[in-house]
Amino acid sequence: MTKSMLDSVAVLNGVGPKREQALNHLGIYTIEDLVTYYPTRYEDLAQKLPSQTEDGEKVTFKGVVASEPILRRFGRKKAMVTFRLLVENEPIQVSFFNQPWIGNKVSQQMTLAVYGTYDKARQRLTGMKLLLNDSEDEQQAIYPASKEIRQSTIKELVFQALHTYADELKGEVIPKAIRQRYQLMNHGDVIKNMHQPTDDVTVQAARRTASFEEFFIFQMRLQLIKQMDRHNQGRPVLFNNGEVKKFITTLPFELTDAQKRVVNEILRDMRRPLHMNRLLQGDVGSGKTVVAALAMYAAITAGMQTALMAPTEILAQQHAQTLSQFFNPAEVRVELLTGSTRAAARRQILEDLVAGDIDILIGTHALIQPDVLFHNLGLAVIDEQHRFGVKQRAQLREIGMNPDILAMTATPIPRTLAITAYGEMDVSVIDQLPAGRKQIKTEWVRQNGYDNVIAFIKEQLDQGAQAYVVTPLIEESEVLDVQNAQAVYAELAETFAPDYRVGLLHGRMTNDEKEAVMQAFKANQFQVLVSTTVIEVGVDVPNASVMMILDADRFGLSQLHQLRGRVGRGERQSYTFLVSDPKTQYGIERMEAMTQTTDGFVLAQKDLELRGAGDILGQRQSGVPEFKVADPVHDLKMMTIAQEEAIETVATPDWDQDPEIQTLVTLLDETMGRYRNFD
Ligand code: ADP
Ligand code: MG
Repeated sequence: MTKSMLDSVAVLNGVGPKREQALNHLGIYTIEDLVTYYPTRYEDLAQKLPSQTEDGEKVTFKGVVASEPILRRFGRKKAMVTFRLLVENEPIQVSFFNQPWIGNKVSQQMTLAVYGTYDKARQRLTGMKLLLNDSEDEQQAIYPASKEIRQSTIKELVFQALHTYADELKGEVIPKAIRQRYQLMNHGDVIKNMHQPTDDVTVQAARRTASFEEFFIFQMRLQLIKQMDRHNQGRPVLFNNGEVKKFITTLPFELTDAQKRVVNEILRDMRRPLHMNRLLQGDVGSGKTVVAALAMYAAITAGMQTALMAPTEILAQQHAQTLSQFFNPAEVRVELLTGSTRAAARRQILEDLVAGDIDILIGTHALIQPDVLFHNLGLAVIDEQHRFGVKQRAQLREIGMNPDILAMTATPIPRTLAITAYGEMDVSVIDQLPAGRKQIKTEWVRQNGYDNVIAFIKEQLDQGAQAYVVTPLIEESEVLDVQNAQAVYAELAETFAPDYRVGLLHGRMTNDEKEAVMQAFKANQFQVLVSTTVIEVGVDVPNASVMMILDADRFGLSQLHQLRGRVGRGERQSYTFLVSDPKTQYGIERMEAMTQTTDGFVLAQKDLELRGAGDILGQRQSGVPEFKVADPVHDLKMMTIAQEEAIETVATPDWDQDPEIQTLVTLLDETMGRYRNFD
């Protein structure tokens, strides 16, 4: 059998189904994935005494554990294990971040060594590696391991693969001319030097090429998707300009200049016979919905149908309601299709849809079911698109006759990154809020200031305002999350009685229940809404002008920003109170950032600096793959160069016939196949 870099890791000795699965969980499926699973660092494990160690130095201390390890968890996936280590009678406080299992490996009286960074003033060691015996090499490559698979196993498998696939490793992923232009290494050398480094300089050089390779492959994928789009000739949407203009005059407000500009960009795209694939970015409250409504209306005047897909039922329902208000029901028929649409109603909708009697179909994932067939779909809009993966975006374009796509996001992705990360899309930005909005005042309050906030909320309610109370996110358990919300609800119902009523919203309610609660809140039937993060996305109640977020440090910055975006939607001065006693510097910085700015792009940039790009561009968030070695924030320039080179490459006839770069071609074929099959 011929070998290929795309062979499954299961072909290696020692990889059974269980180990294969463990590798899969680390994102390793193929031999190529394995050999590009690079060490995150190389460590010199020589031992020293604290007195011989400089501040900030990386060092190994050996000693006896002098306290039971304590595990603390905070917020999203963050955990810290701490214990005391006696090193020649000197007590050192050791902490490991985000490796909770270390707590189980360490116990009092044990002798062990810890490699980490030393803080001399506070006699603390931030651990990076735990060494349970003395036999480990002095200089080693450190791989990110997991609970299911050990460092040493990964190391063995990598070496086995390097040996068994030596011939296949000779294939290149970067065309020669580009390698020469930027003095990059061969692919095989990169892999060898990353795993078995001879010295620092080679490691640096290998890492530089490895980053470029990653960016280049990523950009090639985007360019190929773009090329595929271009070949997929779209149809021109020949809308009636006069009618669109007339519709704009019926809106209850004047469009902002930014809205006018993006509407023009979108309509110009739609009129062209090419396929539109456009991302509409705009901060929360910037007014994206009306822009989408205009684009949809234009398509309708061209005799076409439109679809709008939202990530949650509440949001879909809200859109259905808003759009029904914008449009004259005699002229435009809007229907809602979600998971909870009853069978009979669903049947009727599907029938009318395929007959062309429905103009706008709004819904959740329910829209991308195989039996949802349009008569003539011209435009599909995706709201809060960062909530959907590449797969769902691709599916949406399959439901009709390759409709134009308008994806909207109140994105946490900074402009610079968006351009490169969403390279397959054209980007429009609404960089202006509607006039007359008052700045939301944000205050960070310690736990002991809680009563003052409650008193303040009461005053605001007296003036006719409504308020949100967001309960802490308990990542580990949805049940606890809900119980917590219920407890806060019970307490506040009592606090505000008899003058004001309190409502409750959480993720375990049925969609009908959630919808009923939101409607009642909108109608001011109760004045305070206690909620879990269910309200994070898109909900619009202009009279609600106060928000209190409990244990705010449990949330990420972009999540806090999204939450805060629920207020500041009406004429009233709005307020957000972040109640928290953060336990980490990172938590403190997030609270401070929130009080300093309400600009989503500034916060996104800050978030990026605090968390790193991996998190933000993560699959979960945006449908964009994470990078292994490359760092799109620090190496943005390299990313841009890779983009230019990828554009150039795909424009070269027969670029994929070059025998030298067959590894690249195979890698791309595979992912493009995946993309085409939405898998
Ligand atoms: P988002 O961009 O967060 O989706 P929405 O589309 O929900 O924002 O708009 C937020 C609020 O602003 C809505 O109540 C909407 O009716 C209102 N709005 C949108 N555009 C304007 C405008 N040009 N002038 C005044 N209010 C506007
Ligand atoms: Mg919105």
